[in-house]
Amino acid sequence: MTHIFVALGANLGDPAAQLQQAIAALAAWPTMTLLQSSSFYASAPVGYTDQPDFVNAVCELETELSALEVLAALLSIEAENGRERNFKNSPRTLDLDLILYGNEQIDVPDLTVPHPRMHERAFVLQPLLEIAPQAQIPGLGAAQDYLAAVAAQTLTRIPEKSLTSA
Ligand code: ADP
Ligand code: MG
Repeated sequence: MTHIFVALGANLGDPAAQLQQAIAALAAWPTMTLLQSSSFYASAPVGYTDQPDFVNAVCELETELSALEVLAALLSIEAENGRERNFKNSPRTLDLDLILYGNEQIDVPDLTVPHPRMHERAFVLQPLLEIAPQAQIPGLGAAQDYLAAVAAQTLTRIPEKSLTSA
């Protein structure tokens, strides 16, 4: 069994509802067990800012799947839950990234783990540290040590009661 962490993000449609659906799909995946999921966080887009805020979260799962099998599951859940179904080729509204796979370092054409930019992103680090304060990033060290450098990124924890109607 391997402990893995998945980062979730969405900023189109109803982002919080899509994250809830994605977490339910992960929990229901036959070969994965959901251990924890973080609060949801709203984050202002960086770079191209003329787009809605993102909603982000991180969850921890336990699985016997290989990392590439996990990736395939994530892509499948993205495809099932992350599209507006009202028109053809409508934009993807859900992003699922495998940020940590046990303590492994993986670099193959379709998959890089740890996710190469996770330590630069408050919207990954803060929810990760909420559920796993001791998390280690293989090759880099304690995730906690990277939080100060991203403190300028605006991130707001969404109170749980404002999610229940989603
Ligand atoms: P991004 O997540 O960087 O915004 P995409 O979700 O569009 O971009 O990229 C998806 C592709 O990224 C996947 O098809 C996958 O092969 C590749 N990829 C590489 N490493 C990872 C990872 N750790 N988690 C998820 N996808 C990854
Ligand atoms: Mg992705």
